[in-house]
Amino acid sequence: MINSLDKLTAKNKKHKLRIFNIVLTKKNIIFYTSVIVIFLTAGILFVCYGIAKTESASNTEASAKDYIKWMEFNVQLSTLQKALKYDIDSYGTETPLNWIELISYAATENWGNVKQVKKMNKNIDDLVKKLRGGATIGELTENNKNMKLYPYYYETFYSVLGGFVGEYEVIEPDPSNPLKEITTKKYGLKVFSPVAKGYGYTHYEDFGASRSYGYSRPHTGNDLLGNVGTPIIAVEDGYVEAIGWNQYGGWRIGIRTYDKKRYYYYAHLRKDHPFVPNLKEGDAVHAGDVIGYLGMTGYSAKENVNNITIPHLHFGLQIIFSEVQKDGTNQIWVDVYNIVNLLEKNRMPVAKDITGKDYMRTIKINNIVTD
Ligand SMILES: [Zn+2]
Repeated sequence: MINSLDKLTAKNKKHKLRIFNIVLTKKNIIFYTSVIVIFLTAGILFVCYGIAKTESASNTEASAKDYIKWMEFNVQLSTLQKALKYDIDSYGTETPLNWIELISYAATENWGNVKQVKKMNKNIDDLVKKLRGGATIGELTENNKNMKLYPYYYETFYSVLGGFVGEYEVIEPDPSNPLKEITTKKYGLKVFSPVAKGYGYTHYEDFGASRSYGYSRPHTGNDLLGNVGTPIIAVEDGYVEAIGWNQYGGWRIGIRTYDKKRYYYYAHLRKDHPFVPNLKEGDAVHAGDVIGYLGMTGYSAKENVNNITIPHLHFGLQIIFSEVQKDGTNQIWVDVYNIVNLLEKNRMPVAKDITGKDYMRTIKINNIVTD
């Protein structure tokens, strides 16, 4: 009996598979299969990670190379006004004209010499004739050796002016029924001067002038000299990205547009009461809203200190093509002097609110976002 049992076991052993000298029992097969599966999975994951890493590295490299690193905005007031008038007057007609296209085309034709106002304005008039004659901006700029820089000018000018013009609704009280409001649809300039209507200010072309507080540096904005307490207006729609004390700017507000391309900077606001109540980081702000008050704070590491000799609003505009440009050394700030002058005719009237301590806008406007 014992013998026959031994024989049977020996027979069974013979039937077990031997591969590379490893005895494969059912238990062993499961174990080795699991090990192989784990190694294969790890291998596949490793290869995928490697590919992903290489791709993301080349993406970062591409985006680091692709964005615009430097630009100027020197388009003069009369050129801005001329192009804007063509744009607004042609709205809804057979040949609608886009002011940014007109300016970009003229800048390209004039080799970037946008300060040559007479030439720029003549280029615009000539272009309008061509467009009204049936040509399109695409036909005139594509496959044209002389128009190679057109896309660059369009992109840079659009980065500055892209949110300035469009459709909007003005909502006013109905004079015949105080409980009702009348909504009127309009088209035109929908951004506002940073200074409320009825408040005087003076300014001059001071972009790039030297500043010495802290360290020697060029001035990156436009100073609007006025009286302490003058209501300051949000130029364009956006959200509050920064609010509070800053050594150089004093009490300051930074508002970023929703397309993230523009960062409006309002600095040296009033001591003790710099901002309208409850304004905080992340808040949505509409073009024309009162955001704060002109003052003389700043040039101090200590908060709420008046260290500026002449009360003024420092108004700045930063252009951001890539988030890596937002902070640090490669920031692009553009000259807003001509923009402030362009917005001179678009000033928001304000009135005191019920507390008597703050001001608010008196015209309601809805911007219609078309892009
Ligand atoms: Zn300044």
